[in-house]
Amino acid sequence: VSTSTTFPARAVVDLDAIAGNVAALAAHAPSAAVMAVVKADAYGHGLVPAARAALAGGATWLGTAQVAEALALRAAGITAADARVLTWLYAPGAPLAALLEADVDVSVHADWALAEVVAAARATGRVARVHLKVDTGLGRNGLVPPDLARVLPDAMTARAEGLIDVVGVWSHLAFADEPGNPTVLHQAEVFDDAVRLVEQAGAALEVRHLANSAATLTAPRMHYDLVRPGIAVYGLTPVPQIASSADHGLTPAMTLEARLANVKRVPAGQGVSYAHRYVTTQETTLGVVPLGYADGIPRHASGEPGHPGGPVLVGGADAADAASGALPDGARVLHVAGRVCMDQLVLDLGPYATERAGDVVTLFGAGAGLAHGGAPTAQDWADAAGTISYEIVTRLGARVPRTYV
Ligand code: PLP
Repeated sequence: VSTSTTFPARAVVDLDAIAGNVAALAAHAPSAAVMAVVKADAYGHGLVPAARAALAGGATWLGTAQVAEALALRAAGITAADARVLTWLYAPGAPLAALLEADVDVSVHADWALAEVVAAARATGRVARVHLKVDTGLGRNGLVPPDLARVLPDAMTARAEGLIDVVGVWSHLAFADEPGNPTVLHQAEVFDDAVRLVEQAGAALEVRHLANSAATLTAPRMHYDLVRPGIAVYGLTPVPQIASSADHGLTPAMTLEARLANVKRVPAGQGVSYAHRYVTTQETTLGVVPLGYADGIPRHASGEPGHPGGPVLVGGADAADAASGALPDGARVLHVAGRVCMDQLVLDLGPYATERAGDVVTLFGAGAGLAHGGAPTAQDWADAAGTISYEIVTRLGARVPRTYV
């Protein structure tokens, strides 16, 4: 695949890796079902192919933030028999009737949301499957406990009228990526109280769910009936300070590669890219990579004095197939030289470079990562840009085609 000569840059998504990651997550949480979180175009990997791969790996639920994402899954032919779908982030006036027609479970996070779900159930004649979202301490979306207590009677009335079924209670953790953080257990206790309240009101809950990737991998106490991993489905570690992807049995699914658009000799003292934040120290060869911040390559990963830029794997038998472990024979890791531009970035290939225009370079993939002497990962790019791997993959631009293996 990587020998194709038709692409300037592309993201190769390994669907078997996604399926394998879901199977690994299921093994970490044997008592729970798995909801693969596929919001944000499956974290940049492509909504529908990634969702199908996650289902192949054993997920029985799919989670989306936006209503349109949930509808897109159904429109693509992922039926209710294939997967339960839950969607959770909407403002007043969202097309909830369409959600119910599409057999999608819906989160309720406010009193007006309950009223709109009930109205949609009335209008469509469908029973809305509702998951009550509780803010147990994240301070983001959801009903804080007093509001849950206030909304619950209306929910139970709508349930008695056969308009909704309260099938879930759920919440989200603020510090799951810091396993010892006391707020994690505290949130679980607040969650338990909320579950008890809803059950005492008469709901027959099907699923209680709290765990994201980090809690799925590190905190069995948080597993309940259903775990909701996102980043780990795509093979990236949610706790890079503690464990690598490989430590968790995960394989990064996305490889970002590009073909050099220009290779040329320049003398010592040549300033490189805007504002000449990198200056060559010897006669050398520069390579131009046709990926820039318009494609989601962070400008914060520029190579500036005192700040190595984002890493790029160059050379080797087949840089794109760099597997876990050591670098492929003949490969080397370079760092972005100077500023990342809108469409391109520059590498200093060194005085003895043999690369030619058209050669494939790999920005990140399934390698072991720089810290382990391996090929760079999305986590390495996150480190170079001062951000998290989530941002690296989700911001990969629409201009970069996704291809699937
Ligand atoms: N649940 C909710 C409500 C989320 O917003 C997210 C993503 O941020 C997830 C689960 C998945 O989180 P992660 O990607 O850390 O596993």
